Amino acid sequence: MEIERGVAEARAAAASLSRPLGFVPTMGALHAGHLALVSAARAECRAVAASLYVNPLQFGAGEDFERYPRDFERDRAQLAAAGADLLFAPDSAAMPVAFSAIDLGSIEDRFEGEWRPGHFRGVATVVAKLLDIMRPDVLYLGQKDAQQTAVVRRMVRDLKLGVEVRVVPTVRDADGLALSSRNAYLSSDERRAAPSLHAMLQRVRTSMESGIDKGSAIAEARPTLSAPGALDYLDVVDADSFEPIETLRAPAFIIAAARFGRTRLLDNLWIR
Ligand code: AMP
Repeated sequence: MEIERGVAEARAAAASLSRPLGFVPTMGALHAGHLALVSAARAECRAVAASLYVNPLQFGAGEDFERYPRDFERDRAQLAAAGADLLFAPDSAAMPVAFSAIDLGSIEDRFEGEWRPGHFRGVATVVAKLLDIMRPDVLYLGQKDAQQTAVVRRMVRDLKLGVEVRVVPTVRDADGLALSSRNAYLSSDERRAAPSLHAMLQRVRTSMESGIDKGSAIAEARPTLSAPGALDYLDVVDADSFEPIETLRAPAFIIAAARFGRTRLLDNLWIR
C-alpha cells in the first residue's frame, strides 16, 4: 500500500491506479465498520484508495477534536491488510482550512446539523476536496452516518461531481451497538446502556409496522433508552431529504442520537 502525505503526490498516485477506483474517506481509529467499506470497494472496484484525516472543520467548539483517538500505525496496518492500494494521510499543512466552503441548504440544519452547527458544512467541504484530489469512480460511505450520506449524495448531485455514492450497511457489535470510534470513550456503565439505542429504534420499527402511528410509536419507545442515555432526537425521515415523514415507507431512516455521559452516539435503521 502506497502512503502519500501531500496533495500533489496523492493526486498523481490516485491517477495512476486502475479503474474503477473506489474511495473510502475516514478519520482513522479504524474498526470493522470502516473495513467493511474497504471490503465493499475491493469487491466492486479494481483499485481502492482510503484517506485518513481528522477533519477540524467538522468539529464544533468544545467537541472532541483534540482527544479524538489517533493511531496511525494500527490504521495503516489494517488498511493494508484489507487490501487498500493507496492511503492519503495528509497533515494539516497539506489541508489548510480555507475560506471557501460548501453550503447545502436546509438538509444541513436538521437533526445532527441542529445539534452540531457547521458540522455538515465541514464534512461536505472536506469530502469535496478529497474527491477532487482522488477523482474516484465510486465513493463508499457508512449507513451509520445516515445524514452524512444524504448530505454527500445531495452535494454530488447538485455539483455534478461525477462519482457514484455507495452506502454500506452498519456493522454492529453482537449486542447491537453500532461500531464507532467514539465507543472507546464509554465507561463500563455507559457501554452497558448503549445498545438500548439500537433496541429503541427497533421498537419504533416494530410498532409502526404493526400499524401504530409515528407519534405513539416514538412516545412509547423513548423511555426504553437505558440510563444514563439522554435522547437528543428520535424520528422517521425520508432517506434523501431528511425531512420527517409520518408513515414507514422506503427509502427512509429511523434515526436517533443520544448522549451517554460526554459521548454522543448516533444510530439508525434503514428502511429500503
Ligand atoms: P469516520 O472515520 O467516523 O469519519 O467514518 C468513516 C466512514 O466509515 C464513514 O463513511 C462512516 O459512516 C463509516 N462507518 C463508521 N462506522 C461504521 C459502522 N459501524 N458500519 C459501517 N460504516 C461505518
